[in-house]
This record gives sequence, structure tokens and C-alpha cells, in this order.
Amino acid sequence: MGECERLQEVLSRIERACHRSGRDPKEVTLLGATKTIPEEVIRKFYSCGLKVYGENRAQEFLKKYEALRDLSIDWHFIGRLQTNKVKYLIGKVSLIHSLDRESLADEIQKRAQKAGKVQEVLIEVNLGGEETKGGVEPENLKKLAEYTLSKPNIKITGLMAIPPYKEDPEEVRPYFAELRKLRDDLERDLGIELPHLSMGMSHDFEVAVEEGATIVRIGTLLFGERKY
Ligand SMILES: *Cc1c(COP(=O)(O)O)cnc(C)c1O
Repeated sequence: MGECERLQEVLSRIERACHRSGRDPKEVTLLGATKTIPEEVIRKFYSCGLKVYGENRAQEFLKKYEALRDLSIDWHFIGRLQTNKVKYLIGKVSLIHSLDRESLADEIQKRAQKAGKVQEVLIEVNLGGEETKGGVEPENLKKLAEYTLSKPNIKITGLMAIPPYKEDPEEVRPYFAELRKLRDDLERDLGIELPHLSMGMSHDFEVAVEEGATIVRIGTLLFGERKY
């Protein structure tokens, strides 16, 4: 299958998952997760119509950002974010998916203010209690959200999660449902709107869409197995 066919295949699977769950496919954004994927491959997918991409590492992002400046890519940052890397992202990424601690909110505020921007962020939640993964613990989510709300140059627009890997994607469904519930509770408790749920990857995105995902982050299924 060529690049454009692979893209169409993923888009129609998203569409079918939307129809199964009574959702409008327009509510779901496909994000190409491009860590380790070369710039030429991104160019090809861009020409097929994929405009939103997410990177995990600041240095790799910067390199691709510069090399692909002639395209109107909507870049997101989806990886674990070191505080000292925030300065490279502000003004270049429309959404940071991985706010998970107060010190990071402090740094985003500082850098966004300096640049005269309001940075959109998602709060990443660690649903599986996995120590190797980023994300705030669900019990500390409200506190972090309240803290971030006090930052005038940050706008929280939703939640993100990377649930534990399960062979059977149906076993991931409870995690996606939990993220949605956390979002609903937070909206009610804080009186804010959180339209975005960034959840679902190559092996489980259809279940995520059925549970309300508005951004699915797909790597392998679009770009093939990563080399490292
Ligand atoms: C790599 C990555 C993805 C995509 O994973 P695939 O299983 O290859 O689709 C999604 N989200 C994050 C945060 C990633 O690091």
C-alpha cells in the first residue's frame, strides 16, 4: 500500500468507529506521530493531506520544523517534556500534550509570556500507575489543573493519556472511559470547557474513538515499524 492509501485506510477506520458510536468524524483529528520518521516521509504524507504531526523529542522536532518550514504543518508536542526544552517549542507547536507537573507549567508560563503567546496544553494523566510513563496521577489532576488555570499564558483544552499496552484493545477501553470521566468531572468541578481527549494509538485507536477521543496519535500504522 502506498502512503496515500494507508492514510485513507486509517481515516476510514476512524470514520467507521465514529459511525458505530454516533459521532461526527469531523470531531476527530488524526495526528501523525513521527518520532524517528524521516522528513521525506512526512512530505509524502503531507501531500496526501495529513497536516497534523506530533514529535516526542525537542531536538528532533526542531530539526524537522526547520526542514519542513515550507509546509503549513500543524505541529504538536506529544512526548515527555524536560523543563529546559520548553523554550524551543513556544511559538512553534500549537498544542503541548504532556503537561504533568507544576514546574513545567511555571516554565511554559514564563516562556509563553516572554513570547507574547498563550500556549494551549493538555494535561497528561498516568492512568495505569506505570512509573516509567509520564503524566500526573489521577488524584493530583485537579490540583495541577487549578494551578495551571492561574497561569494567564497557558490555556488547558483537555486531557491526554497513554494507557498500558494490552494485546486486546477491548481491555484498554476502561482506561479511555476513565480519561473521559476525569475530563467530565474536571469540567464540572472547575467550570471550564475541556473539549479535547488525546487518546488512542495504532493498536487501539478505534476503541479510543468510540470512547470519545478527539485526537488520535498514530505512528506505526501510517509510517511502518520504527527502527529504534
Ligand atoms: C509513538 C507514540 C504514538 C504512536 O504510537 P504507535 O503505536 O506507533 O501508533 C502515540 N503517542 C505517543 C505519545 C507516542 O510516543
